Amino acid sequence: MVHPQHDDSWYKSTWTQRAWFASGCTTVLISLAKSLIITISGAGTSTTTPLTWLRLTFAALLGYVLADLGSGIYHWAMENYGSPETPVVGFIVKSFLDHHRHPLEHNKCDIASLLYRVATVATAVVMPVNMFSNDPVLLWFVGVLWGFGIFNVKIHVWAHTPRRNLPPLVAALQDAGIILRWSQHGAHHLPPYNSNYCAVSGICDRVLLDKYKVFTAVEVVLFRVTSVRPRSWAEPDSDWTQKPTS
Ligand SMILES: [Zn+2]
Ligand SMILES: [Zn+2]
Repeated sequence: MVHPQHDDSWYKSTWTQRAWFASGCTTVLISLAKSLIITISGAGTSTTTPLTWLRLTFAALLGYVLADLGSGIYHWAMENYGSPETPVVGFIVKSFLDHHRHPLEHNKCDIASLLYRVATVATAVVMPVNMFSNDPVLLWFVGVLWGFGIFNVKIHVWAHTPRRNLPPLVAALQDAGIILRWSQHGAHHLPPYNSNYCAVSGICDRVLLDKYKVFTAVEVVLFRVTSVRPRSWAEPDSDWTQKPTS
């Protein structure tokens, strides 16, 4: 089915979007490669010690977890406090709400059309680090963080994809719990639509955000300060409910 609001061009990337997607991926790969080259070339000297490898491992874990946390905060903020009429970010809010009404629409999009926006930001943020830093730990951290950052939308789409249509590596990563699975993300698409916002692994939902109801606490504080009610406090309505797919 084609969403009535979209013509075929909505699902197809433009050459500009593909260029930004390629730029973001290349920038991240340069960051990771530069880190490895500096680390390996320093092996056997005082530049690279066993502690260096430990710091690289910690940097990778931190980047992976912060990408998950960032995806959750961004998703929560856009869905609860924006509207399609909000200046600058209204189109992003609309995209999130459209996803709740038609959860499978993004499965039909080219990867570049899904990921080019984050890839553009990644290019702008990571390129200066690549140019001016020779710290292998910083380069590795930034590469992992923005690598998962760029791909978080695709990981989310894979969580909506039937297992038989997943590449074997993606299915294995889901099975291992390294990337988001439908068994966790599905709860985000059910009333009251106020949990499981994270879109990389969901680990931050499990161990922090949902476990300790962090977003609910922040919503209460924001309401007391600004009197603005988040969308998730309202009764589920047509903003959220999934529409028939036939
Ligand atoms: Zn959502
Ligand atoms: Zn979803």
